[in-house]
Amino acid sequence: AAWLTGMVVLILFLLRRFLSACVSAAVIILGLFFGAQLLFNRDLVTDVFVLLLGPFLGVASGITANSLKLLLENKGLETKVIQDKMTGLYTYDFLRIRLDEEWKKCEKSKTPVSIVMMDLDRFKKINDTLGHETGNEMIRRTASVIKESVRGYDVISRYGGDEFIILLWHANFSEAKAYRDRLRNLYHAMAKTLAPELQDSSVSIGVATFDPNNPDGTNPKNPQELVEEADKDLLSDKETRRKNGG
Ligand code: GH3
Ligand code: MG
Repeated sequence: AAWLTGMVVLILFLLRRFLSACVSAAVIILGLFFGAQLLFNRDLVTDVFVLLLGPFLGVASGITANSLKLLLENKGLETKVIQDKMTGLYTYDFLRIRLDEEWKKCEKSKTPVSIVMMDLDRFKKINDTLGHETGNEMIRRTASVIKESVRGYDVISRYGGDEFIILLWHANFSEAKAYRDRLRNLYHAMAKTLAPELQDSSVSIGVATFDPNNPDGTNPKNPQELVEEADKDLLSDKETRRKNGG
């Protein structure tokens, strides 16, 4: 009966009924103990061990099995949280964690960090005229261009929809602007390989830098402001090029 109890407790644990398993284990252990005392009316010093071993092993293996299961599930979740499924790039949440860490290091070591934000122009039109799957392919091709353009230690993330954010380690403002030109050129080179109706597609790119060595002292106050500055720069890039018929 004690071992059977152990099995029941284990099954309850595996079914994720923690509370029922614990309460059943306690009730059954007490029941078995007092039941045996009444039935046999003798001192159960040795038998107590035998009585309790089954439920005890049931509880222990149940907790271990559940913890292992949770551990495996959490591992999967971690990848889901840091990786964008469609492009394989990092998520913005992950980039923000890295940016917050880098920000503190930059303040201490007096090194710059830059953010580059990129958005596809008139992307809705591509979806509407050529279909959502073509749109998805554009997003994937753009992600590949960005991957090609960065150094191994830079961090690229999909900000959502047709927007991307790149974290350039130790890049000052002029290096970030030079990177912007290079990225735009790489994008246009990629666009030339697309279907004719997509070959004149373009991107808007904004940059912003936190540079503790900045002589005029104008710096964003925190990572959020850095991202907002890059966003503003992107919008002004979009407007300027639109005015110029781009
Ligand atoms: P703008 O030139 O001002 O950037 O305009 P836009 O047409 O590119 O529009 P905007 O950037 O504001 O919106 C992006 C659109 O991207 C909105 C949404 O329908 C589409 N979109 C968002 N996520 C996905 C996706 O995963 N796949 C596809 N195919 N489209 C998406
Ligand atoms: Mg867009």
